[in-house]
Amino acid sequence: MLIVEDETISAVIAMSALSDSFVTHHVTDGQAAIDFCAESLPDIILMDINMKPINGLDACRVLKNDTTTSHIPIIFMTADVNPTTEDQCWDAGANDFINKPYSIKTLRNRVNSHLSVKLLTDKLKELVTIDGMTNILNRRYLDYYLDEQMRLASRNKASLGFLLIDIDYFKNFNDTFGHLRGDEVLKIVAKSLQSSLSRPSDAVARFGGEEFAIVLPDTQHDGLVHVAKRILNNIEELAILHPASPFEKLTVSIGGSMFEDKQLDQLQLIEKADNNLYKAKANGRNQIKT
Ligand code: GH3
Ligand code: MG
Ligand code: MG
Repeated sequence: MLIVEDETISAVIAMSALSDSFVTHHVTDGQAAIDFCAESLPDIILMDINMKPINGLDACRVLKNDTTTSHIPIIFMTADVNPTTEDQCWDAGANDFINKPYSIKTLRNRVNSHLSVKLLTDKLKELVTIDGMTNILNRRYLDYYLDEQMRLASRNKASLGFLLIDIDYFKNFNDTFGHLRGDEVLKIVAKSLQSSLSRPSDAVARFGGEEFAIVLPDTQHDGLVHVAKRILNNIEELAILHPASPFEKLTVSIGGSMFEDKQLDQLQLIEKADNNLYKAKANGRNQIKT
């Protein structure tokens, strides 16, 4: 919980009312609150209004206009009990409002009810975007993200790379070691793929079964090949035994495609990568085709 309050006594009252159930942090003005959120995201914010140099209303507007912080509930606390001020709080994006002096019980209950909605929403978002087994993005989110990044690339006249990665002879792997070990290896491969990416906008998702997809925004063809080679190497270096494969260890095949100035749609971009993946398989597996 972040408490934004310039009067020490008020901050101490709020913190002592809540510190048995919450990890509380205290800053003394709106700018400090914005800076705090840039470093780590609180689950809830208690905000005073009158502070200098940046007041609570301005800080609230900034936080509510930023997609990384807009979901954090902000409860205003002020002694200034007039309807105009209350309206200003709501207009700035406040989630709730508590008048000082307040009852400790009211504060706790308000905080708890906003927090439970926030935590449920967080969980729901995670369930909707993350693949439960491998803990990387799921197919649903990939479709959304790829669409968004392709639009962005079009607008900025930038290019975007797309990779499809399929584990070689994975059916044989399951037949040799069992499905549980297969599941374990899918998690290891997902982790390896994730660590093969370096830019924050690069994204890896589970595409289905033992197939993964990677979106590389703002990337040219040589960059795409570079990442694909790194992936191939990193998977080989895992040195996962696979006696039923001609390579005797776990390998992947990779098909790539580029979204450049010519207007492919999402389906065509995926289809192109899939065709290249098929060629990589037909050509002997454990290789890249782009
Ligand atoms: P190829 O080299 O042509 O890709 O051969 P393959 O055996 O990997 O390909 P195929 O598509 O024939 O089989 C994919 C196998 O992946 C089928 C299934 O046993 C396995 N698989 C898919 N999803 C999962 C999963 O969630 N867990 C486990 N353990 N195995 C899975
Ligand atoms: Mg497959
Ligand atoms: Mg396969």
